[in-house]
Amino acid sequence: MDIEKTSSVEPMDTDTTQAPTRGSLLTLMSRSSRFANETGELPIGEFEPKAFNGTTADLPDSALTQSKILVVGAGGLGCEILKDLAMSGMPNVHVIDLDNIDVTNLNRQFLFRQKDVGSSKAKVAADFINTRCPWMKVVPHHGKIQDKNPSFYKSFNVIISGLDNVEARRWLNATVVGLVDMDEDGDPDPSTIIPIIDGGTEGFSGQARVILPRITSCFECSLDAFPPQRSFPLCTIAETPRRPEHCIAYAFILEWPKQFPEQKLDKDSPDDMKWVYEKALERAKKYNIEGVTYMFTMGVVKTIIPAVASTNAIVSATCVNEAVKLLTFCSQTLNTYMMYMGAEGVYSHTFVYERKLDCAVSGKETHKIELSKEATLNELIQMLKEGSLRLGMPSMTTADKTLYMQKPPALEKATRKNLDKPVSSLIDADEEIVVTDPVLQSINLSVAISFQ
Ligand SMILES: [Zn+2]
Repeated sequence: MDIEKTSSVEPMDTDTTQAPTRGSLLTLMSRSSRFANETGELPIGEFEPKAFNGTTADLPDSALTQSKILVVGAGGLGCEILKDLAMSGMPNVHVIDLDNIDVTNLNRQFLFRQKDVGSSKAKVAADFINTRCPWMKVVPHHGKIQDKNPSFYKSFNVIISGLDNVEARRWLNATVVGLVDMDEDGDPDPSTIIPIIDGGTEGFSGQARVILPRITSCFECSLDAFPPQRSFPLCTIAETPRRPEHCIAYAFILEWPKQFPEQKLDKDSPDDMKWVYEKALERAKKYNIEGVTYMFTMGVVKTIIPAVASTNAIVSATCVNEAVKLLTFCSQTLNTYMMYMGAEGVYSHTFVYERKLDCAVSGKETHKIELSKEATLNELIQMLKEGSLRLGMPSMTTADKTLYMQKPPALEKATRKNLDKPVSSLIDADEEIVVTDPVLQSINLSVAISFQ
């Protein structure tokens, strides 16, 4: 049968100078909906169906074309997000990333080509999208997110984050939560709330969540779900291995340099990795530890999270879908967390990630810490760093005293003498301490200390 002749499909629209006519999106925007946002979490807008006549000519005055969107990260998720924004008719996009393109990115970061290896991800991604989709105005920023000041972040209507590390996400979260103005009653001013849509993937699993700063749970509320970077105490590795990763670390940290003092371990060489795997297995047998496999060895040595293109595609589509809903109010937004588990079949579910009432960034309640009478200020600092708060460099003041400041050097020197004093000698019982820390950005954390 001659398919060409019998096909009733219209020829593709070949005009590539305009955003393609996306039938389904136009339909969504032009009809009233029972799911439109009137009573959502963020009561600052209402969905008004617009009588589109089915062409993109009506799009210029829609929320999608007017809004300014920031994409954080131009890697696996970022490339997909930029493409989805282009296809959804959202032209005013900025993208920020500090990485350069590596040859290993090319299999899934599809905006990059061999010739781009070594160039800025943000710049190449923006150029590619702007050239291929002329209605797009993507502005690249090559650099660290921490180098931009809060006013930069304040200029966006929504922020979509496709970051791969916890510390950068904590920083972004604290910065954007810090932009919210609070009134005298402690309620947020809705017009200062910039939604963060946070996507993340790990192998066949992925997640997308909507953070409405000061309204829903924030990234910091869920910090417990992200275990601290695993590090191996050398003594455990050498003397008391308990886990398969201890055996693998023993093989590549201690045995390799002994066996091959002149040769650096090549993580990309199958021969080298096989050697590490076999040594690790030997040690695991000796200590009756199970779970050392070749794949696991690769994972521990490279500490690389496998990247799966289809997971990136699903998670970024979810993120951009949420952006459409947040900007147009055409439907209720995700409340608040979507998980995708591709390793167990195509399975996803959503749930409300509850606010942590004493969250260091977005909490309403004072954080409580119990100390012994003898505990020193230095011990309190270690608790703040190693406990659930996971602070980096905490500085502490009370209403009338400076207890300890990490910076500037003169102030550090002047307050250093307090470090070895018991906290109970520095403050009154039930007196609150205000903690500041680089990971909290502009947010001051109140901590109530009680003594046992
Ligand atoms: Zn929080």
